[in-house]
Amino acid sequence: MTIVGVLALQGSFNEHIAALRRVGVKGVEIRKPEQLQNVGSLIIPGGESTTMAKLAEYHNLFPALREFVKMGKPVWGTCAGLIFLANKATGQKAGGQELIGGLDCTVHRNFFGSQIQSFEADIAVPELSSKEGGPETFRGVFIRAPAILEVGPEVQVLADYPVSSNEEFDSNSADGVQEGNTVSEKRVIVAVRQGNLLATAFHPELTADTRWHSYFLKMLADVREGSSSSVVSIGTD
Ligand code: GLN
Repeated sequence: MTIVGVLALQGSFNEHIAALRRVGVKGVEIRKPEQLQNVGSLIIPGGESTTMAKLAEYHNLFPALREFVKMGKPVWGTCAGLIFLANKATGQKAGGQELIGGLDCTVHRNFFGSQIQSFEADIAVPELSSKEGGPETFRGVFIRAPAILEVGPEVQVLADYPVSSNEEFDSNSADGVQEGNTVSEKRVIVAVRQGNLLATAFHPELTADTRWHSYFLKMLADVREGSSSSVVSIGTD
């Protein structure tokens, strides 16, 4: 039986384990560095990324988590998990926050606002619909959600979302919109893949739709069959 590790320091790890169960996979809670040796893949749930970072620091998990990513083992970060995986975080209280890194992007914490501005929306994810079937869109649950403002050349954008107004984003984008892999003025990125790293700004584990979990399991199968090898380089700065 396939086993997937779920970082269980804080946040929606139980919901991920329940979603994995629905697709016939066992999710095991990871709280200590040595437990990472028992799993070949990891989900980092949503929650609160600064709290999660403090707990990871307390349990001395950062070196083992960075090594896990660096070895190219599949890792999926949802919401706070996405922030944790990013090379750079900006936005409210993001300065100095410790990250695992590896995902070549700049993520803006709490991009869509505070708790009461949380929302749900149907988002188009062509890659998901083509690989997993089902409806054209996926119901995205955005809770104090981050958004990705910039991605590197290795990063595949899986979904984006229109932005009505965000002062910080507007002032950044006015002088900073670049060609290619950077967000346009009107949309921000909310789901990406970079080799064996997957990241979503929203919470698939809080919906009944298991297509994202199935998609992640296919990434695992690809790695096992050797059709995807991606050793991630993590910067030291
Ligand atoms: N805003 C949270 C953070 O910065 C993430 C929210 C979530 O995971 N739902 O950590």
